[in-house]
Amino acid sequence: MSNDAIVCRNPADARQIVARYDAHDADGVAAACARAHAAQPAWAMLPGPRRGELLHRAADLLQRRGQRLAQTIVAEEGKLRADAAGEVRRAAAVLRFHAGEAERGGGDLRDAAEPGGLAFTRRRALGVVGLITPWNFPIAIPAWKLAPALAAGNAAVIKPASAAPGATLGLLDALREAGVPEDVAQAVLGGADVGRALVDDPHVRAVSFTGSTAVGRELAERARARGARFQGELGGNNPLVVLADADPELALALACEGAFAAAGQKCTATRRLIVQEPLYEQVLEAFAGRARSLRMGAGDSDGAQVPPLISPAAAEDVAGAVTQARTLGADVLAGGVRPDGELRHGGFYAPTVIAGAQPGMRVLDDEVFGPVCAVLPARDLDDAIALANAVPYGLSASVCTNDLAHALRFVRGAEAGMVHVNRPTPGADPHMPFGGLKASTASGWREQGQEAVRFFSDQQTVYVHGGGPAG
Ligand code: NAD
Repeated sequence: MSNDAIVCRNPADARQIVARYDAHDADGVAAACARAHAAQPAWAMLPGPRRGELLHRAADLLQRRGQRLAQTIVAEEGKLRADAAGEVRRAAAVLRFHAGEAERGGGDLRDAAEPGGLAFTRRRALGVVGLITPWNFPIAIPAWKLAPALAAGNAAVIKPASAAPGATLGLLDALREAGVPEDVAQAVLGGADVGRALVDDPHVRAVSFTGSTAVGRELAERARARGARFQGELGGNNPLVVLADADPELALALACEGAFAAAGQKCTATRRLIVQEPLYEQVLEAFAGRARSLRMGAGDSDGAQVPPLISPAAAEDVAGAVTQARTLGADVLAGGVRPDGELRHGGFYAPTVIAGAQPGMRVLDDEVFGPVCAVLPARDLDDAIALANAVPYGLSASVCTNDLAHALRFVRGAEAGMVHVNRPTPGADPHMPFGGLKASTASGWREQGQEAVRFFSDQQTVYVHGGGPAG
C-alpha cells in the first residue's frame, strides 16, 4: 500500500465524501501478482466442478447482499437504485453461467489416426491474469472478467476504477467467503500507474481491459511488447436507425432508453438516432419532448429517471462537446444545460437532443459519455447504414423496423460487434459473446458466454494410447 488515499465522492453531490480507500503502489502490485502466481497451481488442480460450486456459492452471497451492494453502487457510481440492484443480479447470473462452464469443462474427443488411440482437446489455465475495469458497471464488468478467469483455473488480480471500487471489493469478499483462496482473487487499487504496473508485471500472462479507446490502445501496446495476451473492450458511438416502416412509439421508447438511461454512461448507449426522412421531423420533435420531460435526480431519490454523471468534471466535459456543436451550427432542441439549484453540486446534465450535427463535431466523431443524442435524417436504408457506419467505432447498432428483409439487410451492413433489431443499443445476455469492431476493440477477443473461456485459457491437444498392441 502507498500512503495515497482514494477518495470517492457522491456523484449527486460532490461535496460529500462517501468512501476512502488506501491505494497500492508498484511494489504492492508486484507483491499481489507474486502471491497470485504462488496460489494459482493449486487452484488449477481443483476439479472444474469444484471451482464451479464455489462460484455458485459466491453468486448466492451476492444475491443475499443485493441491497447492500446496490447501495454502495448508488453511493459511489450514482446510478438509479433499480439499475444498481439489476447490476448486482446480473453479476450473480454471470457467476452462475461460468460456474456451469467450469462444471462442464469443454473439449473435443476423436479417434486418433493411430490404431487404438484416442485424441482429445482440453482447456488449460493461463496462470495469473490482470483485469482492469471502468467505473460505470462496478460489479457487472468485474464479474464478467473474474468469473471466466477463475472458472478456467487462473488466479486474477483486478484493478477497478478509483471512482467506484466498493462494489468490486464486495464481489471479492463474496468470492473469498465462498471459499476461493484469498490470493487467487485479489484487488489492487489506484490510478494509471497501478494499471500500468499490472500490465507490465512479468507474472501476468493475459490482460483483460474495459475502458476508453485511448487507454486501451496504450495498454494493448504495452502488453503486446512483452508477449502478453490482451483483450480490450473500448468505447462506442452507437446508432439507432429508425426506418419509415417502424412503429414510432417503439422507436421513441428505444431511443429514450438507449440515450438517457444511466445518463448515457454505457459504452453501448445510443449516441446517434438516424431516422428515415418521412418520420424524421415527427420523431425528432417527439424525442426532444420526451427528453425535456425526464426528471433528473440522485440515484436514491424517488421518481428520478436520469441520474448524475460520475462527477461535475464529467458533466463539464459533456457540456464542452455540446457547446462545440452549438458553436459550429447545430441546434440543441432539448437540454444542453447543467441544472441549477441543489442539483448544481452534482454531475447532472440535462438529457440533450441535437439536430444538424456535422462531422467535425465531437458529438458525431467521438464518444461523448453522457445523456446526449444527435438526430440525423436518412434518405433510405442504404443511406442509414452508411451514416450508422460513418464513425470510427463499431460496438453496438440497432434498427427499428417492421420489415424483416430491411432488418436483415441492416444486420449484414452494420459495422458493429453487436446488432439489435427492435431493441435498444444497450443490453446483453451473460451467455452471449460481447464485444465490438473497429475502434471499439483492441483485439477481437470476445467477452462473456463461452467465448470468454477461450481468452482465459489455452487449448491443449492430448493423444492417448493404451500402450499395448494396437487394435
Ligand atoms: P478509462 O479508460 O479512463 O479507465 C478504465 C480503467 O483503466 C480504470 O480502472 C482506470 O483507472 C484505468 N486507467 C486509466 N488510464 C490508465 C493508464 N494510462 N494505464 C493503465 N490504466 C489506466 O475509462 P473509464 O472512464 O473508467 O470508463 C468509461 C469508458 O469505458 C468509456 O469509454 C466506455 O465506453 C468504456 N466502456 C467500455 C465497455 C465495453 O465493454 N466496450 C464497457 C463499459 C465502459
